[in-house]
Amino acid sequence: MITSILPTYSRAPLTFVSGTGSWLVEQDGRRFLDLGAGIAVNALGHANPALVEALTEQAGALWHVSNLYNIPAQQKLADALVANTFADTVFFTNSGTEACELAVKMARKYWYDKGTPERSEIITFSGSFHGRSSAGIAAAGSEKMTKGFGPLLPGFTHLEFGDHDALRAAVSDQTAAIMVEPIQGEGGIRPLPDVCLKGLRDLCDEHGILLILDEVQCGMGRTGKLFAHEWAGITPDIMMVAKGIGGGFPLGAVLATENAASGMTAGTHGSTYGGNPLACAVGAKVMEIIADDAFLAEVNRKAALMRQKLEGLVAAYPDVFESVRGSGLMLGLKCKATNTDVVKAGYGQGVLTVPAADNVVRLLPALNIADEDIAEAVLRLDAAAAQLAGGHA
Ligand SMILES: *Cc1c(COP(=O)(O)O)cnc(C)c1O
Repeated sequence: MITSILPTYSRAPLTFVSGTGSWLVEQDGRRFLDLGAGIAVNALGHANPALVEALTEQAGALWHVSNLYNIPAQQKLADALVANTFADTVFFTNSGTEACELAVKMARKYWYDKGTPERSEIITFSGSFHGRSSAGIAAAGSEKMTKGFGPLLPGFTHLEFGDHDALRAAVSDQTAAIMVEPIQGEGGIRPLPDVCLKGLRDLCDEHGILLILDEVQCGMGRTGKLFAHEWAGITPDIMMVAKGIGGGFPLGAVLATENAASGMTAGTHGSTYGGNPLACAVGAKVMEIIADDAFLAEVNRKAALMRQKLEGLVAAYPDVFESVRGSGLMLGLKCKATNTDVVKAGYGQGVLTVPAADNVVRLLPALNIADEDIAEAVLRLDAAAAQLAGGHA
């Protein structure tokens, strides 16, 4: 008999009932160090007092009015995003995949309004992830996500990640946009080198193509800059944001230049909940905390500390781990053992990690994880690795 919750997830037998900072409490009382952070969502830890206050204050005043009216918290968050990024304008969504939907619509409308509606192709890359909506799965294109769900939204050209020649050959007068994650998350913490991101920007400029960056996972301070593309010194035309921006409250956004957004006039797009007062009150507080040089400097310092400890772990267990990859606090342990065995062994030691493709274990802790929690987490990972190396998994 089917379970009352649609069985699309295979869940670990863990039930968390409360959390503080980087710690979660299981219903049986066990404490877990959370290096998954709800898949890069709880960017400021669990029950962050500043976020709890922002949410409860808004909850006591007003929950929802719809986008038929002005929403001060939404305005505040949009202004902060515009002030701190390449963007001139922002549309709020409830999730990353809704941001993908709008990014695709915006790019196509741009060329339609320029009088070239045939320019609708969007180039994407293998190993990418853009969410589970119809546009999201068509964009990523992997069989794992698309099989059985056809006919798929047409107009996506899928290229091998890193194949520069194929990319140059694929660009044509039908190419509307290139969509890419600066660091693939679900794909296994695979960073696009800065030089490639620069190359993509140049290619787009050469052909007038729109560059869409999916920073749903790697954005919002995760790599030690507010957004990952800043490391490469380039800017996109359109950017998808979600996960960390709500600190645990469902919130996403599409950021765009005035030029790229020029087709999106009144009535062309909408969302009932997008930009809701509760979500934006929290998002505005998250932005206030993360878009701060001193905070980001701390992320970089913690990231260096964590990376150094992880390199030690890899060196100590060469049969379990192969290497550390990633940037900032978006880190991956490329495994020799099976990644899901490493994650499970972590459960036994009270540390939560997240598997990804390419046999990688993801470490995406809260950006404000305490130094002693980093040390404790790596001790627990060490114990998990020792168990696997001893063959007792
Ligand atoms: C998680 C993710 C998405 C989808 O976000 P949802 O909020 O789950 O819809 C899209 N792109 C990337 C890079 C992601 O990591």
